[in-house]
Parts: sequence; structure tokens; C-alpha cells
Amino acid sequence: MNKAESRQIAGYLDSAGYQTINSLSDADLVVLNTCVVRQSAENKVLGTLGLLKGLKNKQPNLQILVTGCLVNSNTQELETRFPHVDLLFKPGDYYDLIAWGKKQGMPIEQRLLRYTRNHACMDSSPCALISIIQGCDNFCSYCIVPYRRGREVSRPVEEIVCEVEVLVERGIKEVTLLGQNVDSYGHDLPGHPDLADLLNELSSIDDLVRIRFLTNHPKDISMKLIDTVASLNKVCKHLELPVQAGDDDILKTMRRGYNVKRYRELVHTIRRKVPQISLSTDIIVGFPGETEEHFERSLSLIKDMKFDVVHVAAYSPRPGTLAWREYQDNIPASVKKDRLNKIEELQAAVASDINLQLQGKEVEILVEGRKNVKWFGRTQSNKLVFFEDTGDWLGRLARIQIEKTSPWSLGGKVKK
Ligand code: SAM
Ligand code: SF4
Repeated sequence: MNKAESRQIAGYLDSAGYQTINSLSDADLVVLNTCVVRQSAENKVLGTLGLLKGLKNKQPNLQILVTGCLVNSNTQELETRFPHVDLLFKPGDYYDLIAWGKKQGMPIEQRLLRYTRNHACMDSSPCALISIIQGCDNFCSYCIVPYRRGREVSRPVEEIVCEVEVLVERGIKEVTLLGQNVDSYGHDLPGHPDLADLLNELSSIDDLVRIRFLTNHPKDISMKLIDTVASLNKVCKHLELPVQAGDDDILKTMRRGYNVKRYRELVHTIRRKVPQISLSTDIIVGFPGETEEHFERSLSLIKDMKFDVVHVAAYSPRPGTLAWREYQDNIPASVKKDRLNKIEELQAAVASDINLQLQGKEVEILVEGRKNVKWFGRTQSNKLVFFEDTGDWLGRLARIQIEKTSPWSLGGKVKK
């Protein structure tokens, strides 16, 4: 979501005559797009704000703009703490940014707001990120997102379809639809269209090659959606389905709204209906009260489910959340770290086995870019694949014979 919003902001500034540069010290304007989902991320933000203060002391004309989840509704406290910041604006709230731009004499009109959205393809990548629903209504006990991004607001189907059509005209081949919980999409719109309806609409855009979406919520994902993923060729066979914990008591305290049995059954059903599906999940270790037995259940779940990717995070108390108010952060940092390492080790072995099965096989990727001498792209199942070739492959589908596998990526040669 932050990446999508950074691209939109870059698009807006680009239309106002700015150019992206690589050196901070040469910048006239810096936009800091912040994440505070964990304390470590917030610390990074605070460190960068300190660095920018030093820079502004040397170059008083430097403009500093701050957005993202650091910025809550009450900006007064932040304004007092960081007087060197010129503008604080809430994530996704471009009205404040545009009003500020106007004051600076930027050639901004209201219509640029729409233009901003359509600028999602600023870089050369053939893949665009499209936010379809803002905010979250779930209030998982550990999570700061609903407090910082507010309640759920879906964008109308027609608006999203129009945006994607414009992007496709400009060369975009793949879109990733974004939401904290894409399964809630549309409940607040007239007629209550859902994600499956949106996928059907987007699927009929001729030159659009692939459609992805994230993140699903295990308590809300519908059979209709799973059947739609199975039936539409353009929809990638990949789901991000965060489980967060492998123990029912912990899931309950997290306020996730499902239990482990239901999650296991859900994965079983998805795999039966969409056999090619690849699955990613998120796990939090060291949640308040997590015993060794609770943690062992998270390990067993990972062993049994054989996810393609597991994102693991150590619990970080977030001021204002229910968990921060009600439960003591009573798992020592060293235990959290140890549990995190155990999950990463286990998952590396699981992913290594899964990816090894692709050795010698042919896969199709959409080529997204080039790193040094290697082209890279992803399969429908979201596997990152590298290959070397002198041709221009950007934005093209390539068939790759897999020669090398690791838990994190694949390598091979292009079949011409
Ligand atoms: N909406 C998605 C969901 O329902 O899982 C995830 C959104 S959240 C911004 C991204 C991930 O950050 C979560 O899946 C969770 O694993 C992690 N996370 C959120 N709050 C956290 C916290 N307080 N401590 C550690 N990890 C956290
Ligand atoms: Fe946070 Fe839960 Fe909403 Fe995901 S569903 S953003 S974890 S509150």
C-alpha cells in the first residue's frame, strides 16, 4: 500500500514539474512515506526525520513532506515534535498535498487528483499497484492500521476499471489490487459488488495480461472468490492468507475471528478447487502470553500447510491498540528472536522443497525489470525468476527452463 501511494505522490509531483533523483543531499523536496506497523519501522522513521533535520539546517530551502501511518488525525503533536517538516498529510489523503502544492505555486488543478491515481506507472515496470479499498474495520488486537488508516472505504468498480484501462493503454500488463482486507471490498458501495465481481470486470480488459490482489482475510474469503480465481485465466493463482498464529487461544486474543481448524479446512478447500494455487501467510511470534506449546502449534501449522512464503514478525506493542492496553508484552526479546529464527529456518526448508520441484520444468513469467545483467519476473504463482539474455524482454511473457532453485528465487534460461 505504501509503495502504491509513493508512486501516486511521485506521479503528482512529476506533473508539477519535479523529477526523481537518487541523492538526498541534492533534493529540493523530500517526501517521507512512513510505516509504523512495528516499533522497528517507527524507529527508522524517527532516525530519518533526525537526518532530514540536519539536512534542512544546511539547506533551509529544502521542503520536507511526511505521510503514511505515522500521521494520525491529530497532527499537532507531530508538528511540535518536528518543526522542520513543511507538511504532514494522512496516508492516501491527497487533498492536503494538493492544497499545499497550490500554495507553493505548483500548477495544480483539481483534475490532477485523478491524474495522480493514473500515474501509478511512473517507473518502467509493466506492473501497477491499485488500491481498491482503504482502511480496515477489523481491529485485530495488535494492529495499529485501523487507527491510522481509518474505516473501510471502497472505490467504485467503474473508477477502478477506468483507471486500469488507462494504465493498460500506457503499457501496463499486470495490476495488483490492494486492500488491508480485499474480501471486504464493496460492502459499502451501492449494490454491494464484491472482489469476484471486480475481477470479472477487469478480466475483460483486452491487453491486461495478469491480475493479482492482496490481502485476503481467512474469516471473510468467500467460495465465490475462490471459484472466480479458479475460473479466470488472467487471475494469478496466488493468495496471501495471513494466519498470524497456530493456536486457538492466541488467535482469540488477537481477535482474528477464526480458529486453526477452520483455517486448515479453508486451505484444504482452496487447494482442492485451485490445485495450482500458491499460498503466502503472515505469522506473529511472541504475542503476549505465547507459551512454548502455543508456539509449537504455529510451527506445526507451517510444517503441515507447506506455504510458499511465510512473513514472520516479532510482536511489537503498538500504543493505542487493544493488546497494548490489555496485555503485558511479557515475552523477552531474546525468546521472540529465537522463535522468529526457528520459523524462518523451518520455512526455508519447506520453500526449498517446494521450489526444487520446479527444477527442469518450464514456467511462464511476466518480465518486470532488469537487475545488473539479469532480467527478472514472476510466475503466476508469484515465484521470482531470473534469467540472462541480450534481448529486450521488459513487459513480455517469457518461458523459462528452470535450472537453479533456492527457497527465495529461481533461475533458468529463456526458451525462444
Ligand atoms: N491486513 C493483513 C492481515 O489481516 O493480516 C495484514 C496487514 S498488517 C499491516 C501486515 C502484517 O504486519 C500483519 O500480517 C502482521 O503479521 C504484522 N503486524 C501487524 N501488527 C503487528 C504488531 N503489532 N507486531 C508485529 N507484527 C505486526
Ligand atoms: Fe490490521 Fe487485522 Fe486490519 Fe489486517 S485485518 S489491517 S491485521 S486490523
